[in-house]
Amino acid sequence: QLDLDTKIIGKRIIHLNTIDSTNTMAKKIAAEDGEEGTIVIAEEQTEGRGRLGRKWVSPKGTGIWMSLILKPSIEPTEAAKITQIAAAAVALAIRKVTGCEAGIKWPNDIILERKKVCGILTEMSAELNCVNYVIVGIGINVNGDMEAFPEDIKKTATSVKASAGKTVSRKAIVLYILREFERLYLDFIQSKSLQKSVEICKKYSVTLGNPVKIINRDRQIVAEAVDLTEEGELVIRNQKGELEKIISGEVSVRGI
Ligand code: ADP
Repeated sequence: QLDLDTKIIGKRIIHLNTIDSTNTMAKKIAAEDGEEGTIVIAEEQTEGRGRLGRKWVSPKGTGIWMSLILKPSIEPTEAAKITQIAAAAVALAIRKVTGCEAGIKWPNDIILERKKVCGILTEMSAELNCVNYVIVGIGINVNGDMEAFPEDIKKTATSVKASAGKTVSRKAIVLYILREFERLYLDFIQSKSLQKSVEICKKYSVTLGNPVKIINRDRQIVAEAVDLTEEGELVIRNQKGELEKIISGEVSVRGI
């Protein structure tokens, strides 16, 4: 039970013990007329997903594995902006609840002490240039035992507890995320501008000012991350010194 003071986000909460993937479940609900703001949250995901078919490890009772159903009147190309709204909300929530200096690694990871504590997976369904729904999946390692994680992920992943040095209330983090997400999302819908979220993403960015390797299907670029645009795209300076805009779609960004 959450003491929520939001207008839309979290009006209906579906809390499950175990599920394959909260995003997959949220998609089904959204397709069957699930209302905007409905949330699917699970204690455990057996087939949690990352981008491009990658896996998201989601052990029982230790994290926040949740998906938000949204039905914005936007064009499909704008859906990626919602990832930036979620990233801003999660970074603010972790900072507020724990005092830890959560950073944002563009476009979809939240970082504590150089390690990934949260991933965001935005998926959508669209027809004829109209969005039917957008699902924002948020996975956060809160009180998990990182020692129990698979070897390869252990190197790059952390939990809120590991940084805070104590067990942290998942409920407090969820409440804060939903509140901040709603504030930034409604502002985006009403003003048609992502500016408020971009300001937060810039302020807490761990990407800007640093060298990055942009990995796309057909090319890899080594460059310097220099800015975010008003639309939430990454601006890089390539090795010829030219500025280029990167759209989050299918790129992976690695620090070097
Ligand atoms: P990337 O950040 O590499 O672009 P994604 O955002 O799609 O990829 O996230 C998936 C990746 O995150 C996985 O391939 C794995 O390396 C890592 N990962 C999986 N589960 C977790 C977790 N619970 N915490 C931190 N990292 C994870």
